[in-house]
Amino acid sequence: MRKSKEIMEQTEKYGAHNYHPKEVVFAYADGVIVTNPEGEKFYDMLSAYSALNFGHRHPELVQAAKDQLDNITLSSRAFYNNVLGDWMEKLCKLTGKNMVLPMNTGAEAVETALKTARRWGNFVKGVEDGKQEIIVCSNNFHGRTITIITMSTDQDARKGFGPFTPGFKVIEYGNLEELKSAITPNTVAFMMEPIQGEAGIIVPPAGFMKKAYDLCKENNMLFIADEVQTGFARTGRMFASEHEGVIPDIYILGKALGGGIIAVSAIAADSDILGVYEPGSHGSTFGGNPLGCAVSIKAMEILERDNYPKQAEEKGNYFMDKLKSIVNDDIVEIRGKGLLVGVEFKINAAPYVKKLIANGVLAKETHEKTIRFAPPITITYEQLDDAFEKIKIALSK
Ligand code: PLP
Repeated sequence: MRKSKEIMEQTEKYGAHNYHPKEVVFAYADGVIVTNPEGEKFYDMLSAYSALNFGHRHPELVQAAKDQLDNITLSSRAFYNNVLGDWMEKLCKLTGKNMVLPMNTGAEAVETALKTARRWGNFVKGVEDGKQEIIVCSNNFHGRTITIITMSTDQDARKGFGPFTPGFKVIEYGNLEELKSAITPNTVAFMMEPIQGEAGIIVPPAGFMKKAYDLCKENNMLFIADEVQTGFARTGRMFASEHEGVIPDIYILGKALGGGIIAVSAIAADSDILGVYEPGSHGSTFGGNPLGCAVSIKAMEILERDNYPKQAEEKGNYFMDKLKSIVNDDIVEIRGKGLLVGVEFKINAAPYVKKLIANGVLAKETHEKTIRFAPPITITYEQLDDAFEKIKIALSK
């Protein structure tokens, strides 16, 4: 097998440098363990940013993919396929909504939610087309399209990409007063991540989400939850909105929805909202493809059958308690919910990440000072203990 060095050099030579990967090459993976070409093993404590909630190559998901490969992989929406309806029904039941719209990546689902909110604002609320406003939060991460980076407050994500899309207002994450003052008669929606993942596992003040939801209802606006990273059990609930007892008008879903095997994303909402589409108004060639749907149906079955939310909550509490026992005065805070945990440092965390990797634990800093730990929910207590011993060596001072 080719060596890691050669593979990394080739990747850097031919690929645009829009990422700065840690120097580990994935050549094989099983469950929580990744193996590089040299045969070294690592605990995957990032899970492809929560897309691998089921671990790598969950045997039932692999089987579902293999079975579907023998039948039909793609129909496009020019025709029906015999898996899409089952998948839609399953996702409706899981979210409690009565309609879904399938896409592929998280960013596409976010775009779909924004388009839906604008159309709903025009068709249902009666805001003049072109005047619709959507409110979002500082330090958000919703993806990388031009409209999405329009909403971003991260200048690195925006530099040189103008002109941007009009119609957005940014408030401070968690600041209800700012939200109140940003609302106008043209506001059609407020969108937030229940916990900001990329910003460094930022949990909003208790009660914020519920109050923001109530404010949306008082002002006839949609409440949109971007659960691309927090959804599907990651935070100890099926959806992180549940922590505040909120049922969003629109769920934005992705990542783990495809079982870590194939890109599947969607928005879920009721028909008084998703009913705004007519044929030709929106779509995606691969959205709703039978291969993705087959894997995703199995993924949702496993989530419920094996009670992933409870597993994530219990394992998360166990892991967080252990992390809190680490002695290092560079650590400012350890926070999160379920198995979405952030360790914030006073200083740049990259040297600590280097130590983690040298000790066999894969993690990455986000926003320089915070290390995110988000292992597959399938991680066993034995594996958590073993991984923790390595983490303790790397992060103690
Ligand atoms: N929304 C949130 C909350 C995310 O964390 C991400 C990705 O990290 C996205 C949207 C974008 O998803 P994708 O990278 O699949 O486009």
